[in-house]
Amino acid sequence: MTDMIDGDLLADQTTDPAVTMLDEDATVGENVFYAGTRLPIREGDASLRPKDRAQYPVPPDSLLWKYMGDPFVLFVSGQRTAIIENMWPQLGQGVSDHSMVVKSKDPAVQAQRAKSSQKTINGVLYAAPEDAQKYGIQVRNFHKSIKGDMPDGHRYHALNAETFYWAHVTFFEAIYRASDLGVLERPLTRDEKAQIFEESKEWFSLFGVDDSAQPQTYDEFERYLRNVFDNELVNSKLAQYTVGLARQTLRVEKFVPEKYHWFAKPLAPRLRWFTKMITIAGLEPSIKRRLEVDDIWSTWDERRYRMFVALLRTTRNGLRRTGAPLKYRYTPAAAAAFAREGLDPDDITLESARRALAQARAERARAEHAAAPATVLEAVVDATEADTCAKCKRHLEPCEECAGTGLVDGEHCDVCHGARFGCRVHHADWRVAA
Ligand SMILES: [Zn+2]
Ligand SMILES: [Zn+2]
Repeated sequence: MTDMIDGDLLADQTTDPAVTMLDEDATVGENVFYAGTRLPIREGDASLRPKDRAQYPVPPDSLLWKYMGDPFVLFVSGQRTAIIENMWPQLGQGVSDHSMVVKSKDPAVQAQRAKSSQKTINGVLYAAPEDAQKYGIQVRNFHKSIKGDMPDGHRYHALNAETFYWAHVTFFEAIYRASDLGVLERPLTRDEKAQIFEESKEWFSLFGVDDSAQPQTYDEFERYLRNVFDNELVNSKLAQYTVGLARQTLRVEKFVPEKYHWFAKPLAPRLRWFTKMITIAGLEPSIKRRLEVDDIWSTWDERRYRMFVALLRTTRNGLRRTGAPLKYRYTPAAAAAFAREGLDPDDITLESARRALAQARAERARAEHAAAPATVLEAVVDATEADTCAKCKRHLEPCEECAGTGLVDGEHCDVCHGARFGCRVHHADWRVAA
Protein backbone atom coordinates (compact mmCIF):
# COMPACT_ATOMS: atom_id res chain seq x y z
CA MET A 1 0.00 0.00 0.00
CA THR A 2 1.13 3.54 -0.66
CA ASP A 3 1.68 5.62 2.41
CA MET A 4 1.75 9.38 2.46
CA ILE A 5 5.41 9.56 1.54
CA ASP A 6 4.57 8.83 -2.09
CA GLY A 7 6.03 11.76 -4.08
CA ASP A 8 3.33 12.06 -6.77
CA LEU A 9 0.58 11.87 -4.24
CA LEU A 10 2.14 14.64 -2.18
CA ALA A 11 2.43 16.95 -5.18
CA ASP A 12 -1.24 16.36 -6.08
CA GLN A 13 -2.41 17.05 -2.58
CA THR A 14 -0.60 20.29 -1.96
CA THR A 15 -2.04 21.88 -5.09
CA ASP A 16 -5.58 20.94 -4.09
CA PRO A 17 -7.26 23.95 -2.43
CA ALA A 18 -9.65 21.62 -0.56
CA VAL A 19 -6.75 19.92 1.25
CA THR A 20 -4.35 21.20 3.90
CA MET A 21 -0.98 19.52 4.41
CA LEU A 22 0.36 20.11 7.92
CA ASP A 23 4.03 21.05 7.87
CA GLU A 24 4.30 20.87 11.66
CA ASP A 25 2.45 19.23 14.54
CA ALA A 26 -0.85 21.00 15.23
CA THR A 27 -2.71 20.88 18.55
CA VAL A 28 -6.45 21.38 18.65
CA GLY A 29 -8.22 20.86 21.96
CA GLU A 30 -6.65 17.78 23.49
CA ASN A 31 -5.81 16.24 20.14
CA VAL A 32 -2.63 16.58 18.06
CA PHE A 33 -2.31 16.04 14.31
CA TYR A 34 1.26 15.32 13.28
CA ALA A 35 3.43 17.04 10.68
CA GLY A 36 2.82 15.63 7.19
CA THR A 37 -0.85 14.88 7.85
CA ARG A 38 -3.21 15.47 4.97
CA LEU A 39 -6.46 17.17 6.01
CA PRO A 40 -9.23 17.49 3.41
CA ILE A 41 -11.87 20.11 4.22
CA ARG A 42 -15.08 18.42 5.34
CA GLU A 43 -17.47 20.93 6.86
CA GLY A 44 -21.18 21.33 7.40
CA ASP A 45 -24.23 19.34 8.47
CA ALA A 46 -25.58 17.35 5.49
CA SER A 47 -28.87 16.30 7.13
CA LEU A 48 -31.75 16.01 4.69
CA ARG A 49 -35.09 17.75 5.26
CA PRO A 50 -38.12 15.41 5.46
CA LYS A 51 -39.27 16.29 1.96
CA ASP A 52 -35.82 15.47 0.53
CA ARG A 53 -35.26 12.10 2.13
CA ALA A 54 -36.51 8.60 1.42
CA GLN A 55 -35.91 6.02 4.15
CA TYR A 56 -35.89 2.34 3.22
CA PRO A 57 -35.53 -0.37 5.88
CA VAL A 58 -33.11 -3.25 5.20
CA PRO A 59 -35.10 -6.45 4.40
CA PRO A 60 -34.84 -9.07 7.20
CA ASP A 61 -33.89 -11.69 4.60
CA SER A 62 -30.53 -10.00 4.03
CA LEU A 63 -26.85 -10.77 4.49
CA LEU A 64 -26.59 -7.73 6.77
CA TRP A 65 -29.10 -9.33 9.14
CA LYS A 66 -27.30 -12.67 8.86
CA TYR A 67 -23.87 -11.31 9.83
CA MET A 68 -24.18 -7.95 11.62
CA GLY A 69 -25.58 -9.42 14.86
CA ASP A 70 -23.12 -12.32 14.92
CA PRO A 71 -20.82 -11.78 17.94
CA PHE A 72 -18.03 -13.85 16.33
CA VAL A 73 -18.03 -11.50 13.35
CA LEU A 74 -18.05 -8.45 15.63
CA PHE A 75 -15.42 -9.81 18.01
CA VAL A 76 -12.75 -11.26 15.72
CA SER A 77 -11.33 -7.89 14.62
CA GLY A 78 -11.48 -6.47 18.17
CA GLN A 79 -11.18 -2.71 18.41
CA ARG A 80 -10.46 -2.29 14.69
CA THR A 81 -13.83 -0.72 13.83
CA ALA A 82 -13.39 2.03 16.42
CA ILE A 83 -9.75 2.54 15.41
CA ILE A 84 -10.33 3.00 11.67
CA GLU A 85 -13.30 5.23 12.48
CA ASN A 86 -11.11 7.42 14.70
CA MET A 87 -8.37 7.60 12.05
CA TRP A 88 -10.69 9.65 9.83
CA PRO A 89 -9.39 13.11 10.85
CA GLN A 90 -12.77 14.77 11.48
CA LEU A 91 -14.16 11.76 13.36
CA GLY A 92 -11.04 11.53 15.51
CA GLN A 93 -11.36 15.21 16.37
CA GLY A 94 -15.06 14.74 17.17
CA VAL A 95 -14.29 11.85 19.47
CA SER A 96 -11.47 13.82 21.13
CA ASP A 97 -13.73 16.85 21.71
CA HIS A 98 -17.00 15.14 22.54
CA SER A 99 -16.63 11.49 23.45
CA MET A 100 -17.71 10.48 26.91
CA VAL A 101 -15.40 7.49 26.67
CA VAL A 102 -12.32 9.67 26.32
CA LYS A 103 -13.44 12.21 28.90
CA SER A 104 -15.03 10.11 31.59
CA LYS A 105 -13.66 7.33 33.72
CA ASP A 106 -17.16 6.59 35.00
CA PRO A 107 -18.23 3.12 33.78
CA ALA A 108 -21.89 4.21 33.73
CA VAL A 109 -21.10 6.97 31.24
CA GLN A 110 -19.02 4.60 29.14
CA ALA A 111 -21.83 2.04 29.13
CA GLN A 112 -24.28 4.74 28.00
CA ARG A 113 -21.99 5.65 25.12
CA ALA A 114 -21.62 2.01 24.04
CA LYS A 115 -25.39 1.72 24.22
CA SER A 116 -25.94 4.62 21.84
CA SER A 117 -23.44 3.16 19.34
CA GLN A 118 -25.27 -0.16 19.51
CA LYS A 119 -28.47 1.61 18.56
CA THR A 120 -27.20 1.97 15.00
CA ILE A 121 -27.10 -1.82 14.65
CA ASN A 122 -29.81 -3.00 17.03
CA GLY A 123 -32.23 -0.10 16.78
CA VAL A 124 -31.91 0.81 13.11
CA LEU A 125 -30.86 -2.34 11.24
CA TYR A 126 -32.87 -4.88 13.26
CA ALA A 127 -35.85 -2.66 14.11
CA ALA A 128 -39.35 -3.19 12.79
CA PRO A 129 -39.69 -1.06 9.62
CA GLU A 130 -41.75 1.76 11.17
CA ASP A 131 -39.32 2.03 14.10
CA ALA A 132 -36.25 1.85 11.87
CA GLN A 133 -37.17 5.19 10.26
CA LYS A 134 -37.70 6.86 13.62
CA TYR A 135 -34.53 5.43 15.19
CA GLY A 136 -32.49 6.38 12.13
CA ILE A 137 -33.40 10.04 12.62
CA GLN A 138 -32.73 9.73 16.37
CA VAL A 139 -29.24 8.40 15.69
CA ARG A 140 -28.62 11.22 13.24
CA ASN A 141 -29.91 13.90 15.60
CA PHE A 142 -27.70 12.54 18.35
CA HIS A 143 -24.76 13.64 16.13
CA LYS A 144 -26.08 17.19 15.59
CA SER A 145 -23.96 18.70 18.35
CA ILE A 146 -20.73 16.90 17.39
CA LYS A 147 -18.91 19.72 15.63
CA GLY A 148 -15.91 21.94 16.21
CA ASP A 149 -12.58 23.18 14.84
CA MET A 150 -9.88 21.48 12.81
CA PRO A 151 -6.27 22.72 13.11
CA ASP A 152 -6.33 24.41 9.69
CA GLY A 153 -9.06 26.86 10.76
CA HIS A 154 -11.81 24.86 9.08
CA ARG A 155 -14.75 23.30 10.91
CA TYR A 156 -15.80 19.69 11.19
CA HIS A 157 -19.27 18.21 11.65
CA ALA A 158 -20.10 14.57 12.40
CA LEU A 159 -22.93 14.86 9.87
CA ASN A 160 -20.77 16.06 6.99
CA ALA A 161 -21.70 13.83 4.03
CA GLU A 162 -18.23 12.25 3.61
CA THR A 163 -17.54 11.94 7.32
CA PHE A 164 -20.89 10.39 8.26
CA TYR A 165 -20.68 7.99 5.32
CA TRP A 166 -17.29 6.70 6.48
CA ALA A 167 -18.67 6.15 10.00
CA HIS A 168 -21.44 4.07 8.38
CA VAL A 169 -18.97 2.07 6.27
CA THR A 170 -16.94 1.03 9.33
CA PHE A 171 -19.97 -0.92 10.59
CA PHE A 172 -20.63 -3.21 7.61
CA GLU A 173 -17.01 -3.29 6.40
CA ALA A 174 -16.31 -5.22 9.63
CA ILE A 175 -18.09 -8.19 8.02
CA TYR A 176 -15.62 -8.16 5.09
CA ARG A 177 -12.71 -8.02 7.51
CA ALA A 178 -14.11 -10.87 9.61
CA SER A 179 -14.45 -12.92 6.44
CA ASP A 180 -10.89 -12.10 5.30
CA LEU A 181 -9.53 -13.01 8.74
CA GLY A 182 -11.18 -16.42 8.41
CA VAL A 183 -13.79 -16.61 11.18
CA LEU A 184 -16.65 -17.67 8.87
CA GLU A 185 -17.20 -21.26 7.74
CA ARG A 186 -15.85 -20.13 4.35
CA PRO A 187 -14.81 -16.67 3.11
CA LEU A 188 -17.54 -14.55 1.52
CA THR A 189 -17.56 -14.49 -2.27
CA ARG A 190 -17.24 -11.21 -4.14
CA ASP A 191 -20.95 -11.44 -5.03
CA GLU A 192 -21.85 -11.77 -1.35
CA LYS A 193 -19.72 -8.75 -0.48
CA ALA A 194 -21.39 -6.80 -3.29
CA GLN A 195 -24.82 -7.79 -1.93
CA ILE A 196 -23.87 -6.53 1.55
CA PHE A 197 -22.80 -3.23 -0.03
CA GLU A 198 -26.16 -2.96 -1.87
CA GLU A 199 -28.03 -3.60 1.40
CA SER A 200 -25.88 -1.00 3.16
CA LYS A 201 -27.45 1.66 0.89
CA GLU A 202 -30.85 0.92 2.46
CA TRP A 203 -29.31 1.05 5.93
CA PHE A 204 -27.70 4.44 5.17
CA SER A 205 -30.96 5.86 3.78
CA LEU A 206 -32.54 5.46 7.24
CA PHE A 207 -30.33 8.17 8.76
CA GLY A 208 -31.64 10.97 6.56
CA VAL A 209 -28.19 12.27 5.60
CA ASP A 210 -27.05 13.28 2.11
CA ASP A 211 -25.69 10.17 0.36
CA SER A 212 -23.54 11.90 -2.26
CA ALA A 213 -20.38 10.32 -0.77
CA GLN A 214 -21.84 6.84 -1.27
CA PRO A 215 -20.51 4.98 -4.33
CA GLN A 216 -23.05 3.64 -6.83
CA THR A 217 -21.54 0.26 -7.71
CA TYR A 218 -19.51 -2.31 -5.81
CA ASP A 219 -16.55 -1.72 -8.18
CA GLU A 220 -16.61 1.93 -7.17
CA PHE A 221 -16.98 0.97 -3.54
CA GLU A 222 -13.83 -1.20 -3.71
CA ARG A 223 -11.92 1.76 -5.15
CA TYR A 224 -13.40 4.01 -2.45
CA LEU A 225 -12.21 1.64 0.31
CA ARG A 226 -8.73 1.30 -1.16
CA ASN A 227 -8.41 5.08 -1.38
CA VAL A 228 -9.57 5.60 2.21
CA PHE A 229 -7.10 3.02 3.54
CA ASP A 230 -4.22 4.32 1.40
CA ASN A 231 -4.78 8.06 1.66
CA GLU A 232 -7.43 9.19 4.14
CA LEU A 233 -6.80 7.43 7.45
CA VAL A 234 -4.27 9.26 9.61
CA ASN A 235 -2.34 8.78 12.80
CA SER A 236 -3.03 11.37 15.53
CA LYS A 237 -2.80 11.69 19.29
CA LEU A 238 -6.42 10.48 19.53
CA ALA A 239 -5.64 7.45 17.35
CA GLN A 240 -2.67 6.74 19.63
CA TYR A 241 -4.98 6.99 22.63
CA THR A 242 -7.16 4.32 21.01
CA VAL A 243 -4.28 1.89 20.45
CA GLY A 244 -2.63 2.84 23.73
CA LEU A 245 -3.99 -0.22 25.51
CA ALA A 246 -1.82 -2.41 23.31
CA ARG A 247 1.31 -0.79 24.72
CA GLN A 248 0.26 -0.46 28.31
CA THR A 249 2.00 -2.59 30.86
CA LEU A 250 -1.18 -3.60 32.60
CA ARG A 251 -0.56 -3.78 36.33
CA VAL A 252 -2.82 -6.30 38.04
CA GLU A 253 -1.96 -4.70 41.39
CA LYS A 254 -3.96 -1.67 40.33
CA PHE A 255 -7.33 -3.30 39.89
CA VAL A 256 -7.20 -6.64 41.68
CA PRO A 257 -7.60 -6.72 45.50
CA GLU A 258 -4.41 -7.73 47.27
CA LYS A 259 -5.71 -11.05 48.57
CA TYR A 260 -6.05 -12.28 44.96
CA HIS A 261 -2.57 -11.24 43.79
CA TRP A 262 -1.23 -14.79 44.15
CA PHE A 263 -3.84 -15.84 41.62
CA ALA A 264 -3.87 -12.83 39.29
CA LYS A 265 -0.14 -12.18 38.92
CA PRO A 266 0.69 -15.36 36.98
CA LEU A 267 -2.22 -14.55 34.64
CA ALA A 268 -1.09 -10.98 33.99
CA PRO A 269 1.09 -11.74 30.93
CA ARG A 270 -1.80 -13.58 29.27
CA LEU A 271 -4.17 -10.75 30.10
CA ARG A 272 -1.68 -8.27 28.66
CA TRP A 273 -1.38 -10.27 25.46
CA PHE A 274 -5.15 -10.59 25.22
CA THR A 275 -5.56 -6.81 25.56
CA LYS A 276 -2.90 -6.23 22.92
CA MET A 277 -4.58 -8.74 20.66
CA ILE A 278 -8.11 -7.32 20.82
CA THR A 279 -6.66 -3.85 20.27
CA ILE A 280 -4.41 -4.29 17.24
CA ALA A 281 -4.47 -7.88 15.91
CA GLY A 282 -7.33 -7.23 13.48
CA LEU A 283 -5.60 -4.27 11.82
CA GLU A 284 -4.06 -4.59 8.36
CA PRO A 285 -0.21 -4.45 8.34
CA SER A 286 -0.25 -1.05 6.60
CA ILE A 287 -2.50 0.38 9.34
CA LYS A 288 -0.30 -1.14 12.06
CA ARG A 289 2.67 0.62 10.43
CA ARG A 290 0.86 3.95 10.21
CA LEU A 291 -0.07 3.75 13.90
CA GLU A 292 3.50 2.66 14.71
CA VAL A 293 2.39 -0.49 16.51
CA ASP A 294 3.99 -2.91 14.02
CA ASP A 295 7.07 -3.09 16.28
CA ILE A 296 5.02 -4.63 19.10
CA TRP A 297 3.38 -7.24 16.85
CA SER A 298 5.72 -10.12 16.02
CA THR A 299 5.30 -13.16 13.75
CA TRP A 300 4.86 -15.12 16.98
CA ASP A 301 1.96 -12.82 17.97
CA GLU A 302 0.46 -13.24 14.51
CA ARG A 303 0.70 -17.05 14.73
CA ARG A 304 -1.00 -17.06 18.10
CA TYR A 305 -3.73 -14.77 16.82
CA ARG A 306 -4.32 -17.14 13.87
CA MET A 307 -4.81 -19.96 16.39
CA PHE A 308 -7.27 -17.80 18.30
CA VAL A 309 -9.24 -17.09 15.08
CA ALA A 310 -9.27 -20.83 14.29
CA LEU A 311 -10.68 -21.49 17.77
CA LEU A 312 -13.41 -18.90 17.20
CA ARG A 313 -14.24 -20.46 13.82
CA THR A 314 -14.45 -23.97 15.31
CA THR A 315 -16.70 -22.76 18.12
CA ARG A 316 -18.91 -20.83 15.72
CA ASN A 317 -19.22 -23.78 13.34
CA GLY A 318 -19.97 -26.11 16.25
CA LEU A 319 -22.81 -23.90 17.47
CA ARG A 320 -24.27 -23.80 13.97
CA ARG A 321 -23.98 -27.53 13.29
CA THR A 322 -25.46 -28.59 16.61
CA GLY A 323 -28.42 -26.28 16.06
CA ALA A 324 -27.76 -24.23 19.20
CA PRO A 325 -30.58 -21.74 19.93
CA LEU A 326 -30.16 -18.35 18.25
CA LYS A 327 -29.71 -16.63 21.59
CA TYR A 328 -26.31 -18.34 21.88
CA ARG A 329 -25.31 -17.48 18.33
CA TYR A 330 -26.52 -13.89 17.98
CA THR A 331 -26.67 -10.67 19.98
CA PRO A 332 -29.93 -10.38 21.98
CA ALA A 333 -31.34 -7.71 19.63
CA ALA A 334 -30.62 -9.81 16.53
CA ALA A 335 -32.03 -13.00 18.07
CA ALA A 336 -35.19 -11.11 19.06
CA ALA A 337 -35.52 -9.66 15.55
CA PHE A 338 -35.22 -13.10 13.90
CA ALA A 339 -37.88 -14.43 16.32
CA ARG A 340 -40.17 -11.46 15.54
CA GLU A 341 -39.85 -12.08 11.79
CA GLY A 342 -40.09 -15.87 12.14
CA LEU A 343 -36.87 -16.15 10.17
CA ASP A 344 -33.98 -18.59 10.53
CA PRO A 345 -30.67 -16.89 9.64
CA ASP A 346 -29.35 -20.21 8.30
CA ASP A 347 -31.99 -20.01 5.57
CA ILE A 348 -30.64 -16.66 4.34
CA THR A 349 -28.55 -17.17 1.21
CA LEU A 350 -27.14 -14.86 -1.45
CA GLU A 351 -30.07 -15.81 -3.70
CA SER A 352 -32.77 -15.24 -1.07
CA ALA A 353 -31.19 -11.94 -0.04
CA ARG A 354 -31.03 -10.76 -3.67
CA ARG A 355 -34.70 -11.66 -4.16
CA ALA A 356 -35.76 -9.88 -0.95
CA LEU A 357 -33.90 -6.69 -1.86
CA ALA A 358 -35.19 -6.69 -5.45
CA GLN A 359 -38.74 -7.21 -4.17
CA ALA A 360 -38.45 -4.42 -1.57
CA ARG A 361 -37.13 -2.03 -4.22
CA ALA A 362 -39.85 -2.96 -6.71
CA GLU A 363 -42.59 -2.52 -4.10
CA ARG A 364 -41.41 0.89 -3.05
CA ALA A 365 -41.13 2.02 -6.69
CA ARG A 366 -44.82 1.11 -7.07
CA ALA A 367 -45.74 2.79 -3.78
CA GLU A 368 -43.94 5.99 -4.75
CA HIS A 369 -46.10 6.27 -7.84
CA ALA A 370 -49.21 5.89 -5.74
CA ALA A 371 -48.62 8.09 -2.70
CA ALA A 372 -46.47 10.80 -1.17
CA PRO A 373 -43.68 9.54 1.11
CA ALA A 374 -44.81 8.86 4.65
CA THR A 375 -43.73 11.33 7.28
CA VAL A 376 -42.08 10.02 10.43
CA LEU A 377 -42.59 13.09 12.56
CA GLU A 378 -44.50 12.59 15.77
CA ALA A 379 -47.28 14.97 16.83
CA VAL A 380 -46.00 18.36 17.90
CA VAL A 381 -46.00 18.80 21.68
CA ASP A 382 -45.56 22.15 23.38
CA ALA A 383 -42.35 22.39 25.37
CA THR A 384 -40.95 25.09 27.59
CA GLU A 385 -37.57 25.92 29.03
CA ALA A 386 -38.90 24.74 32.42
CA ASP A 387 -39.25 21.15 31.16
CA THR A 388 -36.46 18.66 31.72
CA CYS A 389 -35.28 15.71 29.65
CA ALA A 390 -36.64 12.42 30.98
CA LYS A 391 -33.45 10.69 29.79
CA CYS A 392 -30.70 12.90 31.21
CA LYS A 393 -32.51 15.48 33.43
CA ARG A 394 -31.02 18.44 31.52
CA HIS A 395 -33.23 21.53 31.18
CA LEU A 396 -34.54 21.96 27.67
CA GLU A 397 -32.90 24.59 25.48
CA PRO A 398 -34.15 26.46 22.42
CA CYS A 399 -33.59 24.17 19.41
CA GLU A 400 -30.42 25.11 17.50
CA GLU A 401 -31.69 23.68 14.23
CA CYS A 402 -34.62 26.12 13.92
CA ALA A 403 -33.33 28.82 16.34
CA GLY A 404 -36.26 28.07 18.64
CA THR A 405 -38.91 28.87 16.03
CA GLY A 406 -40.12 25.29 15.45
CA LEU A 407 -40.04 25.83 11.68
CA VAL A 408 -37.44 25.37 8.95
CA ASP A 409 -38.38 26.50 5.44
CA GLY A 410 -42.03 26.55 6.49
CA GLU A 411 -41.98 22.92 7.66
CA HIS A 412 -41.96 21.56 11.19
CA CYS A 413 -38.38 21.36 12.41
CA ASP A 414 -36.90 17.92 11.94
CA VAL A 415 -34.91 17.98 15.19
CA CYS A 416 -37.34 19.35 17.84
CA HIS A 417 -40.42 18.24 15.84
CA GLY A 418 -41.83 21.74 16.07
CA ALA A 419 -41.68 21.82 19.89
CA ARG A 420 -39.12 24.69 19.69
CA PHE A 421 -37.29 23.40 22.76
CA GLY A 422 -35.38 20.16 23.14
CA CYS A 423 -32.62 18.40 25.05
CA ARG A 424 -29.13 19.33 23.89
CA VAL A 425 -28.30 15.62 23.56
CA HIS A 426 -31.61 13.81 23.09
CA HIS A 427 -33.38 16.51 21.06
CA ALA A 428 -37.03 15.58 20.50
CA ASP A 429 -36.72 12.34 22.47
CA TRP A 430 -36.72 14.10 25.85
CA ARG A 431 -40.28 13.02 26.74
CA VAL A 432 -39.65 9.34 27.26
CA ALA A 433 -37.24 8.01 29.90
CA ALA A 434 -34.36 5.85 28.64
ZN1 LIG B 1 -31.40 14.48 27.39
ZN1 LIG C 1 -36.17 22.81 16.02
